Amino acid sequence: MAADDGMQVIIGLEVHIQLNKLRTKLWCSCTSAYHGKEPNTVLCPVCLALPGTLPVLNKRAVEFAILLGLALKGDVQKETFFYRKNYYYPDMCKNFQISQYDKAGGVPICVGGELAFRAGKEARTVHFMRVHMEEDPGRLAYDGSITTSPVAYVDYNRHGMALLEAVTEPELRSPEEARAFLKKLRAIVEHLGIADLGLEGSMRCDANISYKGHARVEVKNISSMKEVEKALMFEMMRQKQKIKGGGEIVQETRHWDEVRRVTVSLRTKETEKDYRYFPEPDLVPVAIDKKMLDAARKAMPELPDARIQRIVKQYQIPEYDASVLCDSKAMADFYEATVKIFDDPKDVSNWLMGDVSRRLNEDLVEIEETKLTPKALAQMLRLIKDGTITGKIAKGLVKGMLSGAMPADLVKEHAVKRIDDAALLGNLAREVIVENPKVVAEVKEGKNPRTFEFLVGQVMKKTKGQADPELTREILKELL
Ligand SMILES: [Zn+2]
Repeated sequence: MAADDGMQVIIGLEVHIQLNKLRTKLWCSCTSAYHGKEPNTVLCPVCLALPGTLPVLNKRAVEFAILLGLALKGDVQKETFFYRKNYYYPDMCKNFQISQYDKAGGVPICVGGELAFRAGKEARTVHFMRVHMEEDPGRLAYDGSITTSPVAYVDYNRHGMALLEAVTEPELRSPEEARAFLKKLRAIVEHLGIADLGLEGSMRCDANISYKGHARVEVKNISSMKEVEKALMFEMMRQKQKIKGGGEIVQETRHWDEVRRVTVSLRTKETEKDYRYFPEPDLVPVAIDKKMLDAARKAMPELPDARIQRIVKQYQIPEYDASVLCDSKAMADFYEATVKIFDDPKDVSNWLMGDVSRRLNEDLVEIEETKLTPKALAQMLRLIKDGTITGKIAKGLVKGMLSGAMPADLVKEHAVKRIDDAALLGNLAREVIVENPKVVAEVKEGKNPRTFEFLVGQVMKKTKGQADPELTREILKELL
C-alpha cells in the first residue's frame, strides 16, 4: 500500500539464523554452546583458519539447511558448493568468509521458496531468492554507541558458527509487514528445532530499503527481531525527508546504532567485484541425493500452518485464535498442554490471547521466560468455573502466576473471593442508586443499555471486582 504521498517503500530482508542447536561449529569440533563463555575461549586453529588447517563441513548443518529449504518450499539443489567471499573487517580474522554464491556458476543449497503470513488482516506471501549456508563472523562490541566508543572489542567465540541466510525478494511494503513476516519465519524455525531463538544473536537481519525510483540502502547489524521494525522506521523517515528536501539517496551501507536509535553511514556500498568471490578451494562440492531429501521429509515436524489447521479442527476454536497462538511454538505448546487438563479450549485461548499476552507484552517477555505453568492456568480457570472467583478477580492473579504462584494460594493469601451474598450486594446496589440519580433516570428512560452497565460497574468497584456480576445485574434490575 502506497503512503498518502504516493511514495512506495520497498524492503528486502536477509535473515541470518544461527544453527545453535548443532552440537559443534560449522568447520570444526568446537562446541556451539559459546553463549555466556569468557570471550575468545571457544576457538581452535580450524575456526581461526590458522595456516595448515582445513575446514570439514558439519553434515548435520547440511541436514538443517535442507529442512529449512523444504519448509520454505524452496528448491533444494542436487549439488551445492562453497565460495570464498573476501573482505577485511576485524570480526573475520581470516580476511574471508566461507559462504555460498548464486552467480558465476555458484549454487546455494536452496533456490527460491516462499512464505505466507498475515500482516494485520491481510494475507501476504513473500518470495525468497535463496537460502544459503555460511559461517558466522566474530562479534564486535563497543563501549556504548558504535559511533562514539573509543575502542572496539572483538570476541571470536562466535567465529565459525553455522548460519543459514534466507534472502527475500524486495517484496515487503512496510516495517510492520517486515515484523509480521519475521514472526512467521521465527515460528517455522522454532518448529523445525534447528535453532534456539531465545539466545542472543540467534536471529539477525540485514535489510535493503528504498523508495521506488531511488537508490537502495542496506542497513546492517540489526541484532534482533524487535529492532528490525525500529531500524526500518528510522531509515524510512530519513530517506523520505531527504527526497522531499530535494536531496539524493546515496547507495550505501548503514549501521543500526541500537544505543542512539539511528542508522549511521558505514561505507559506500561495496560492489560484488570488491568481494572477489571464487570457489572455496578447501572444500569439495556437496552432493544432496534422494536419500538425504527423503530423510529430511521424514524428519519434518508439524509446521505452523498445519498446526493451525489441526488446532482449529481438534479444539473447535476460530482460525484467528489458532494462528495467534501458533505465532510462537512455546505459546502453542502451552495452549495444548493446558487444554489437555482443562477441557474448554475457547476459554483457554481467550485467556492466553487476552490477559496473559497483555502482561507478557507489558513486561516484554515470552511465555517460556515466565514461571507460568499450564497447571496454574487450568487451576485458575477451574476457580472461575466453580464460582470461587470472578473473571475480574482472576485478571488480578495473572501477574503473580507469571512469577510462579498457584492461583488457589493467591486467593487464600489475599482473601479475594467472589461475593455472592445477596443481602450485601443489595445494600451496595441501593447505595449506588442513591449516589447516581442522573444515571438512574437515564436507565429508566431505557435508551442506552450502557448506562445500566455503568451501575453494575459501580457495585463491582465497591467490592474491588469481587461481586458476582450476574447476581449484581439481577439485583439492580429488581431494584430499578
Ligand atoms: Zn573451532
